[in-house]
Amino acid sequence: MSFHADIITLFPELFPGPLGASVLGRGLADGLWSLNATHLRDFATDRHRTVDDTPSGGGAGMVLKPDILAAAIDTITPASDPRPRILMSPRGKPLTQARARELALGPGAVIVCGRFEGVDQRVIDARQLEEISIGDYVLAGGEVAAMVLLEAVVRLIPGVLGGADSHADESFENGLLEYPQYTRPQSFEGLDIPAVLTSGDHGKIARWRREQSLALTRTRRPDLLEPKSS
Ligand code: SAH
Repeated sequence: MSFHADIITLFPELFPGPLGASVLGRGLADGLWSLNATHLRDFATDRHRTVDDTPSGGGAGMVLKPDILAAAIDTITPASDPRPRILMSPRGKPLTQARARELALGPGAVIVCGRFEGVDQRVIDARQLEEISIGDYVLAGGEVAAMVLLEAVVRLIPGVLGGADSHADESFENGLLEYPQYTRPQSFEGLDIPAVLTSGDHGKIARWRREQSLALTRTRRPDLLEPKSS
């Protein structure tokens, strides 16, 4: 069984969007992964197809109703569905390469995209939604966040990007930022490719890349080198 993503959203027409381009799009066409976007409004029960209501306790904006969202989740994912149920949320656990890799090796994901002020807390609790954030800033909706999550995951699905070990040196895969990359021409605006890279000495190249990775990580992301607290 290949990776299957279900998206619950008020804007299903946004999908697959960028996920339909390039190698991810080819993987989608070839059936290496699949995606279905469901309109939350299809689960509304009144004449106006209402999905939201005002926040209890007052305040600005609207909140997605728990009963409508729960009906959508229950229809798409029966209790026996092994896929994680994810809610895109700025309050969630920050997305990491490690979580993306876990998801890529699994059967897929059911992803809820919030809108307005967010989602009634009771449906998050009752359907055990895993909240994932793509960074410390607030977007207008969960759709772009879901695309970010899926793009990070789908490129790791075996076969999507080709070469099995083409990820090994990438940023975050080994806890470091990637070394700088170069390609021809040999000289660009008076700047040459570092000589070591054209030396043909693979041991020396590997050592140089490792040193560059470490130096870059130390200056830009020292937090990655700290021992993990959790
Ligand atoms: N009032 C909320 C923000 C709502 S933004 C708060 O202050 O926490 C509307 C929707 O956009 C959210 O429900 C979520 O699905 C999505 N969203 C916004 N920022 C996000 C982020 N950094 N990561 C993931 N999803 C985000």
